[in-house]
Amino acid sequence: MFTGWKPMENLPDDSLALTNNDSSQWSVGTATSIRARFFVLNERLTIGEIIDSSVVGTFVTLGTIETIDTERGWQYLSCKYHNKKVMPTTNVDADDRPLFFCNTCDKEHSDVISRFKLIANVNDDSGEANFLLFDANAQAIVRHSAAELYDENEDEDFLPEAVSDLFGKRVLFEISVDADNIKGKSSQYVVRLATDDREMVEEFADLPPKSNPVLMLESADDISSGSVGFTATPLSKRKSEQDDDSCLEDQHSVNKKLSQKKLKG
Ligand SMILES: [Zn+2]
Repeated sequence: MFTGWKPMENLPDDSLALTNNDSSQWSVGTATSIRARFFVLNERLTIGEIIDSSVVGTFVTLGTIETIDTERGWQYLSCKYHNKKVMPTTNVDADDRPLFFCNTCDKEHSDVISRFKLIANVNDDSGEANFLLFDANAQAIVRHSAAELYDENEDEDFLPEAVSDLFGKRVLFEISVDADNIKGKSSQYVVRLATDDREMVEEFADLPPKSNPVLMLESADDISSGSVGFTATPLSKRKSEQDDDSCLEDQHSVNKKLSQKKLKG
């Protein structure tokens, strides 16, 4: 039974392989990293447990998107060169295109693009919470870019059909609980990764209930300094298994050269 969790940052350099209860081999690699993040690296919490969490960290949960908060819009206009929001001006360029001021570029220009900023109200049997999805994660489940859906002539709170299609959808979320969430200053949890991959959603839904979630939260400090719940296998022991099976599409196989750093951010 896999009962431990540990922040990714604390993974020792040489423990590239992780073993879970059914002896499947998991690792931190590019193709397997999404799966590892949902099934190995992060502690699973219900939404009720996320709301009650007094521990800052990254957790995974499965929830159903009930609705999208449209009051603050679903997208924002950003600079094309980075993600920062731009402010409209009354000026236009030589081609009569509207100019926007970008704080980061520190100038007005017209190279702007719509990006997602979705506040999804997500629930499960234990509770409901607001999850904040920025561009890439929203795009992963909407399957369109914000730019494709954005129509400057529509009202701010008009929700494109591709976005409202999310209602009722079950999605796996990796979210952060930060200090403001715990203090009650923020009721929004920032989504770090989202997927509606059916296979993973169903597998996650079928996981047995955790035996003692309270104990797990209380022992988080101990876990972070040790290796509770993990069995590290030297990469060399497993290398031969992978030689003719390093296909990226095989979720159970593993890249030979693994980088935990790819998981960050
Ligand atoms: Zn800019």
